[in-house]
Amino acid sequence: MLWPTNTDATDDLLNTTMMKSRFIKVAVCALLMAIVSVSCSTVAFTGRNRLLMFSDSQITSLSDQSYAELMTTAKKSLNTANAEMVRNVGMRLTSALQKYCVATGQTSAIQGLSWDYQLVQGKDVNAFCMPNGKIVFYDGMMQYANTPDLVAVVMGHEIAHAIARHGNERMSQQAVVNMAGSVASQIIGAKTSANARQLFDTAFGIGSEYGIMLPFSRKHELEADEIGLIIMAIAGYDVDQAPVLWERMSAGSSSTVPEVLSTHPSNATRIHKIKEFLPKAKGYVGKY
Ligand SMILES: [Zn+2]
Repeated sequence: MLWPTNTDATDDLLNTTMMKSRFIKVAVCALLMAIVSVSCSTVAFTGRNRLLMFSDSQITSLSDQSYAELMTTAKKSLNTANAEMVRNVGMRLTSALQKYCVATGQTSAIQGLSWDYQLVQGKDVNAFCMPNGKIVFYDGMMQYANTPDLVAVVMGHEIAHAIARHGNERMSQQAVVNMAGSVASQIIGAKTSANARQLFDTAFGIGSEYGIMLPFSRKHELEADEIGLIIMAIAGYDVDQAPVLWERMSAGSSSTVPEVLSTHPSNATRIHKIKEFLPKAKGYVGKY
């Protein structure tokens, strides 16, 4: 006997199951390809390809909600001189960035971003930028970033996260993970309903023990360092102060792990990479 007998029914069942499975795979692939075809874009300054599944307006709306909630409990810093320094550095960096984007036809990078710069009370050596362009520094950061150049290092890094759309990308990656688990319903729901808020909160760690913003991935942190240095250079700040700041913070005794000095990547790797990025950043000095 060359073949087992009486397998017609089993074969039919197997064939049906395989066809269903294949259909689901094809449907998921088609959906992913459809999304990819409309959402693939490149990051300003680095040219890296990334997948964004959410519109700027959707991300802005979610960020506005979270930021408003945060600012109902945050207290403005009592150090008005530092608050003014943070605001002035922020304005100089973003106006230089705008000038550059207009001159090079890359205004999509800053589209939908409404910049604001606040210094709030808190001992954490921390700062963050919401995807809508609202930047918050904590008093604790100012012990290390105590000059305009040093503030510009942190501010440039935070602005970079916003213009690189790292928040959108992180939400999109999470949506893909969800979609892989439950075919298309999650992503379709996320793009249209309150599920988006849940994705947003998860992606940013809002409401978690980690605070307002989870550290980004190693790739995003290094990219924000690189773009931040370029923005600094365009605005005429001293980019050589960047490794100085990271070395100072690395040597600090703070027990908290700030977003800007997360464990991904390690301090040593980060400082090494920043030094590698410096020549590229210096190429932008005085050009725009
Ligand atoms: Zn960061």
